[in-house]
Amino acid sequence: MSQFLTDLAPKETPWDTHRSNAQSVQMLYEYSEEFNKYAERINGCSGILKFGFGEDKLVLKQAFFCRVRFCPVCQWRRSLLWRAVMFQKLEEIKTQYPTHRWVFLTLTVRNCDLVDLRDTLKDMNASWKRMSETVAFKKGVAGFIRTTEVTRGKDGDMRAHPHYHALLLVKPSYFTKNYIKQSEWVEMWQKALTADYAPSVNVKTVKQFAEGQLDKAICETLKYSVKPDDLTLTRDSGAWLHEMTRQTFKMRFIATGGVLKGVLKPDDEITTDEMLTSSEEVEETDERRIAFQYHREHRRYAYAPRFNE
Ligand SMILES: [Zn+2]
Repeated sequence: MSQFLTDLAPKETPWDTHRSNAQSVQMLYEYSEEFNKYAERINGCSGILKFGFGEDKLVLKQAFFCRVRFCPVCQWRRSLLWRAVMFQKLEEIKTQYPTHRWVFLTLTVRNCDLVDLRDTLKDMNASWKRMSETVAFKKGVAGFIRTTEVTRGKDGDMRAHPHYHALLLVKPSYFTKNYIKQSEWVEMWQKALTADYAPSVNVKTVKQFAEGQLDKAICETLKYSVKPDDLTLTRDSGAWLHEMTRQTFKMRFIATGGVLKGVLKPDDEITTDEMLTSSEEVEETDERRIAFQYHREHRRYAYAPRFNE
């Protein structure tokens, strides 16, 4: 009788969830010869986890990560790292810019055919650049962190809904003489896109002293680029995932600018160690290691004493 990781450490449930999703994505990649190499890499992703003993929890010390862009485990580890780094840097930013505040912006464009996604994303990026160079933007916004999210378009099987989530660090004057109303954000984004329609824009001011709101905005900005349910859908035998993979090849899904330039590193610069700790701080433990192995048939991690150290 196997002993499962989550029996011993219920907090580690996300490991089962994300690794199980990875198994599904692997299967979808196996359907196409073009993507067999990704399937193989995901197959080898985080098969064995070795933990050290922290004060009151297990501390991940060793695992192999495949780094395939849409591997659900790797997506999750990157997101955890970005969030942790952002929460750490928040204090520094507050000290440096005590009177600045945060605005959470979501910018969308009309859904596109998935085969046009790459061009659409390039166009969005150029449009963002144009918008960020406008006088209104520069007057109010000191810096930004922007991520790209793509969901399945609800208007057809091979459609995409690309959008940006952005955290803007705004100057105090943003709330007085340099204020940008929601309708003005729509106008600015439409103009930057040179679109003949009014794009959907959501803007939320993060209330001062409401820490929960900022945490939520950070988590929303720094999550996956494609939600797990959209990746693992089996109905189309992976057709959407395959095209998505082609369209986004080597594209970066995170951007920073202004005074926040460089606060978060792009996906391809994140090291394996950082994916392990998902933090810039390393929690020390003694040398003992307790090992768990992923079991495909159970879609769960189980205790694997033969790998203990
Ligand atoms: Zn992976």
